[in-house]
Amino acid sequence: MRCTRKEIVAILSNMVQVVEENEQYLNQLDSVIGDAEHGSNLKRALRKALDLVTDLPCENPADILENFGRILATSGCGSGPLLYGLAIKAFGSCLGEKGSFEPQNVVEAMEAMLHTVKEKGGANIGDKTMVDALEPAVNAFKEAVLSGHTLVEAFDFAVQAAEKGMLETRNFVGKKGRSAYLGERGVGYQDPGATSTYLMLRSVYQTLLEKGCGNSES
Ligand code: ADP
Ligand code: MG
Repeated sequence: MRCTRKEIVAILSNMVQVVEENEQYLNQLDSVIGDAEHGSNLKRALRKALDLVTDLPCENPADILENFGRILATSGCGSGPLLYGLAIKAFGSCLGEKGSFEPQNVVEAMEAMLHTVKEKGGANIGDKTMVDALEPAVNAFKEAVLSGHTLVEAFDFAVQAAEKGMLETRNFVGKKGRSAYLGERGVGYQDPGATSTYLMLRSVYQTLLEKGCGNSES
């Protein structure tokens, strides 16, 4: 299957739009356990990455994603933009230069993204971070692809798993990032990064569903 520049840019710009729409909500979640700027920081960095990447003459999905991730990682001043940027860069690098890919390649790219976040941030499941939404999403995605589901169906399962993981962060004591300073007092509050992970994955799923990206034959 093949994904065009237009489709990748649509995926990224819808993702940016969703974060823009949820800026205050994400800031509000971050005000409880962090410094109240997760939404604003991420929005600014994503917008800059999108603007710069759309000016680059890249056609290959891998190149577009690698550049987007690289710019995102260096454009923000919080853990969110850095970790998401490195994750998206890893996703792009893993997709490779062919311009076409199989669902199994996307599984590998999702795993590379998770591996990068865990390696760079040092967080595991239960530490009240974005990993609590991302890891179940990647696992559900992989399971769905291995059992023969399409890319879009697999993303649907991933989004459901991310939502469940996001809600579970309310029960956890923060072990990484700013929520670790709050400790037990953070219990009952949802992690902002797990929430933005869920929102962005949901946006990717919705764009894939609408645009039919990945359905065209290579
Ligand atoms: P900062 O914490 O630097 O203000 P942001 O507000 O942009 O950064 O992002 C906060 C989110 O980043 C948290 O809600 C959490 O999900 C995620 N996060 C913070 N530190 C880590 C880490 N070490 N590993 C994984 N995710 C992390
Ligand atoms: Mg913050």
